[in-house]
Formats: sequence, structure tokens, C-alpha cells
Amino acid sequence: MAKRKQPSRKQIVKKILSSIIAPVKADELVAKVLKKYTPTAKDPKKAIRSYLRELDGELLIFEDLHTVVPLKVAMEGVQYYITFDEFLQQGVLLPVVFSSFTNWYGKKKVQLLDASHRKLDYEETTIELKKQSPLDLFMPSEIIGYSLESWFKENEITNKNIILITIVDWNKHCFSLEVKTLEGINKENNQRFADIVFGMLEKASKEHINIYRTIPTAYYLLKKENKLPCKYWQDILIDDGRMMFDDFCIQYIENTRFGWISEENEEEYALDKKEGDKVYCFKAFLKYEDTIWRSFQIQGINTLADLNDCMMEFFQRDFDHMAGFWKCTQRGKNKRKRYREIELANINPFGEGDGAEIPIATLDMQVGDRLKYVYDFGDWIEHVIELQDIFEPKKKELYPVETGRNKPNYKYCSMCKEKSKKEVAKFICIDCSQEQREVLCCEDCIEEHDGCFLEDILY
Ligand SMILES: [Zn+2]
Ligand SMILES: [Zn+2]
Repeated sequence: MAKRKQPSRKQIVKKILSSIIAPVKADELVAKVLKKYTPTAKDPKKAIRSYLRELDGELLIFEDLHTVVPLKVAMEGVQYYITFDEFLQQGVLLPVVFSSFTNWYGKKKVQLLDASHRKLDYEETTIELKKQSPLDLFMPSEIIGYSLESWFKENEITNKNIILITIVDWNKHCFSLEVKTLEGINKENNQRFADIVFGMLEKASKEHINIYRTIPTAYYLLKKENKLPCKYWQDILIDDGRMMFDDFCIQYIENTRFGWISEENEEEYALDKKEGDKVYCFKAFLKYEDTIWRSFQIQGINTLADLNDCMMEFFQRDFDHMAGFWKCTQRGKNKRKRYREIELANINPFGEGDGAEIPIATLDMQVGDRLKYVYDFGDWIEHVIELQDIFEPKKKELYPVETGRNKPNYKYCSMCKEKSKKEVAKFICIDCSQEQREVLCCEDCIEEHDGCFLEDILY
């Protein structure tokens, strides 16, 4: 007689989850799994716990760190609506509106019901997609849609209507459709949804989050707050404008913006005079030697190329290297500050480059915000530029202007010292210096280091 095959770890978890009808503590679920399945790992509890993490978005979601909800329980009853687009105009619904946030997207068909839960017959229809820009290169040329022409006619659906979708049976991919109008629908729910998703992105360790995990969790949390229905998630995120998504991930919109910000969107830089006149008061310092600092004032209309000029001049740099700017934006609201870096500009020695023309006023900086500035991509000299104040310009003052710098801690020329002279050193000789003894050199003694590698000293 054939031996009955042992059920797999996943089958066991699936079976246990199917008997759970409410949120459950993760530890409790782990204990239930361990009764039926013993992993070979040293720490069985930990092994099961991390396995549950793998199933996040597939069989379950994490309501918070310690609470698990079977995906079926979380998703059933979720409601969202779709507004009219060119496909709906033809009585066609795209599969994407049912499943783009699921791990079965593109693999399974859906079952559709009407408002009184009668089966709705639809026909699969092929829709040709027009490629509108070179970026659509990888877009398929056709997709399958669900045609509901007769149902649309019967219900006299027009573009004044919306279609309310309710998830009826998650495992059977069963959805019900209802015809509604936008009136009476609470639009604040959309904002709440966007905030939940953005909050998850801010908390994530990486700067992107997985759609299959995030979107079901956000729908579930909204359902729990009685804030359904809301718009379809993709429409919400597009309206909200803080995030970008592809088929798998959601990320910060700025992460995808660099490169095209400079040329095509010049009108974005349109500033009114008042904005452009404002004076930005910055303090810049070396990231790894913050006793070396400069403060200066520059106007909103000035560009990142101008800011680069200031950094060169005030820190006595040579204009012969590339430099780059990043905006550092705080992630989340924790006391322990975490930043994400948004690439703003690369500026070449001629003051040109991607982002060089961006005016400071359009960076949307608040007092306390920081820029990262790197001079010389070879030596990677990193600076922090902190915004300390914004005020109206003073008459007669010419901007940009340096307003302060650290008190220099001068070092003196080694050669002159031997002759009992005190001359401020301008260079350090890398070749003649040893670990214990720095060999410094003034401008007059430079000949003694003919052929040596000299580095500027910054005071
Ligand atoms: Zn000297
Ligand atoms: Zn030397």
C-alpha cells in the first residue's frame, strides 16, 4: 500500500488559517502550526514565524507586528469603486481592477455577481493597446478584458456612474458589481488609504514596498476603520502624488524623477517674484569634520548651479570636478531621524548638468531640512548643507553672500618652523608625511616638494 504523503508546511498553514475567522496573535498561530509540523531548525518557533512572514500577502497579512489576519478574512467585504475610463465606456472591465494587488494577478479568472448576487456572464474580449510613447515599448500590444455590454445597457450605465466592487469570496476570486453614483461617497477615505500606504513606505527598511503585502493590508485597515469604500488603489496613489508604482513595488515618487526633471518640466520652476526673492540662510559643513563650516545667504531664484558656485568659493575649491546635490528628507516621525536621499543634480565644472537649473525655492525646504553635497566624485568629499532660516531680502544687500565661518585652527609650515619662522601652511605633503608626523608646507616652500603630491588644507 502506498504511504500517504505528508502534507507540506504550506498546506498545514493553509488548513489552520481556513479555520480562523478573526485576527489572531502571531504567537498563537505559530503554536498551532507547531502542533502539526516540526521544522528541523534549531529554533522551531522562530523558523515558523519567519515562514509566516514569507506568506505575507499570499495567505495572510500582518495587521501589526504581532497580529495576523488570514487573507480571506481580511479581504472579504472590502469595497472599492472604479470611475469611468475609456474601457468602461465600452462596457469592458479590465482584470487589473480585480487583481493587480494580488499574487494571482494574470493567472486566474474572476467570477462576477450583480448586486443581488446573481451570476453575471461576461465575455472575454481582446483589446488592442495603443503605444503612446517610447516608454510604452514593453507594454503588451493587447490585453484581455471582461465585456459586460448587456449588463451595462440593462442598467443604463453612463459616465455619471461608478462601479462599486465588493470582494465576496476571496478564494474563489468572486466579486460583486453594483452601479452607483459618486454622490454620497466619502472621498476622505481615499486620503486615509493613501496615508496608510505612505505610512507603510515610511516605516519600511528599504525605500520600496511590495504591492501584494501593502495593498491588501491597507484595504483591510480601512475596512476595520469603517472607511470603505474608496477608489481603486492605483487611482488613489496617482491622485495622491507622493508615490509611484510598477507591477510589484510602490516607492517614493522622487526616486523615479531624476533625469527628466531638468528639461521637460521647466514650467515647474515658474516662480513668482516673492518666492524668488526670499533669502535662504544655509550653514554648510564637512560631514566628517563638522568644525569646518561656512554660513551664507542665497535667494530662492538662485539655482543649484549657483549654490554649487557658493560651495566652491566659500570652501576654496577648484572648479575642476563634478559635484552633486541630494535632498535629505526625513522618513517617518520618529525621534531617531532616518533620512532618504533624493538625487537632485549633477553639476560639471562648467556649471551645467542634470538639475543645474533647479531654483532653490522649488526644493520645498523647511528650516532644519538638509541637502547632501558631494564635491569631486573621485575623492567623494561629503558636505551637509542645512537650512537655518528663510526671510525677506534686505535692501542694499547683494546675494549670495558669505555670513560666517569657523574660526580657523591654523597649522604652520614645517620647513619654516625649522628656520624658526611661523608661516601658515597651505598644503599637506602626502608623500613626505608619515603616520606620526605631518609635513606641512607654505606657498613659499612649495619648491622643496617638487614632484610630491600636495593636498590643500581647508581651514
Ligand atoms: Zn614655508
Ligand atoms: Zn614632499
